[in-house]
Amino acid sequence: MKVLLVNSPSADRPVVRDMAGGLGFDGGNAVVLPPLDLAYLAAGLLGKGHQAEIIDAGAAGLTRGAAHELIRAKQADAVIATVSLPVLYSDCAFLKEVGAYFKGKIIAKTGIAYPPILQEILEKSSAGLCIYGECELEIDKVISGEEKRGTAYMEAGGFRMEANLLVEDLDALPLPARSLLDNGRYRYVLLGGNTTVMQTSRGCPFPCAYYCAYPLVQGRKWRHRSPGHVLREIEEIVNNHGIRSILFRDATFTMDKDRTHAICDLIIAGKLGIKWWCETRVDRLDEPLMRKMKAAGCAGINIGVESGDTEVMETQAKIGMTFDKLKAVRDAARTLGLRLHFLLMVGLPRESRKSIYETYKLMTALKPETIGVTILTPYPGTPFYHEAKSKGFIETENWSDFGGHRPVMHTPALSSEDLSYAQRMLNDIFYLRKAGLYGRLKAALLAGRLKKWAMKDK
Ligand code: SF4
Repeated sequence: MKVLLVNSPSADRPVVRDMAGGLGFDGGNAVVLPPLDLAYLAAGLLGKGHQAEIIDAGAAGLTRGAAHELIRAKQADAVIATVSLPVLYSDCAFLKEVGAYFKGKIIAKTGIAYPPILQEILEKSSAGLCIYGECELEIDKVISGEEKRGTAYMEAGGFRMEANLLVEDLDALPLPARSLLDNGRYRYVLLGGNTTVMQTSRGCPFPCAYYCAYPLVQGRKWRHRSPGHVLREIEEIVNNHGIRSILFRDATFTMDKDRTHAICDLIIAGKLGIKWWCETRVDRLDEPLMRKMKAAGCAGINIGVESGDTEVMETQAKIGMTFDKLKAVRDAARTLGLRLHFLLMVGLPRESRKSIYETYKLMTALKPETIGVTILTPYPGTPFYHEAKSKGFIETENWSDFGGHRPVMHTPALSSEDLSYAQRMLNDIFYLRKAGLYGRLKAALLAGRLKKWAMKDK
């Protein structure tokens, strides 16, 4: 069997498909990540003696027409193509076009596990099957129809969704088939240079599953690879592909501090000379671990902070985190020379205008090297989505707006316009301060305006 795995062309705008837990996130040219999910599926196929090729149309900047030409030329038996939430309509249209000429099996691959959307994908595209689960180890059987877990399909005109398929032992996974990717195309703005991605664990058990896409896609049980298995992939990346810059895409990379110490020890002992970046929670970090991470090549960490309003932070945004814990991590990072990127967001139901101002004060006080402010998006299937829907907060279910940067709802205290305004102001103030004297003056002006706006809290 010859299978073509296609990272669909992002027709209307750039999207980082791997982010938001795998649902997809608005992005720009500064972040272009390899389709790790397809590389894992390809490895699963190769391991069973099948042929696999990957076309990363997004990274290659292929138009839909060019992608179709390639698909036609490859003469595969099956096509598996990605569908991400913010570009769902254009991805489905792309797959429908494939259906007009491709006579083999057409399969959609998505991180979305919400039944109405899976049904929408099947109805809007010409895919006969939609993979939403972790099918890497059974992908040949999934394509042949022997294994149905982790998939959805239409049968006798009705929608069917099978139970999920999760890989319990992540060490059983093959290494992703990176040799099928054009690895020189990938980059991550915070790391710089030619970058690849790795995933050493899946799932996340924390209560922020209330709104977060990671547990929605990967489940709440944390599953992890052993340090030796992780090292084997790093060595493969360095030795076979010459890449020394790695973004770990785990939801919470340092969930198990001992495991992180062990991974770092192996990197240090192997003298691999890599530079890497990860994402984690404040309460899964301490100074000795951060010191070890730095010694192993860690350049920086994405920290989920969300809100600067301590009441919101401690009760809804990041239960387990406090301002003092965050400050301790900030201080240690500064001493060690680790860069911190604060992940902030606006729009939790308990936030008010004053909360937004508290977020401004927090970023001003702690001075992370960089920030990213998103507008909280009610990802379909999360408890937050169901709550927002039942309370009438959601203003649109046009999935094109679900990329993390457009307001799709209001909250009891903040209108959708407020959310856009807050996101823009926090981002602008932060980055203007880094833009010389004129920028600092403008930032001071905007900070004054934000304060006045916050004073008019409802
Ligand atoms: S810790 Fe991070 S990844 Fe895990 S549920 Fe919370 S926000 Fe999501």
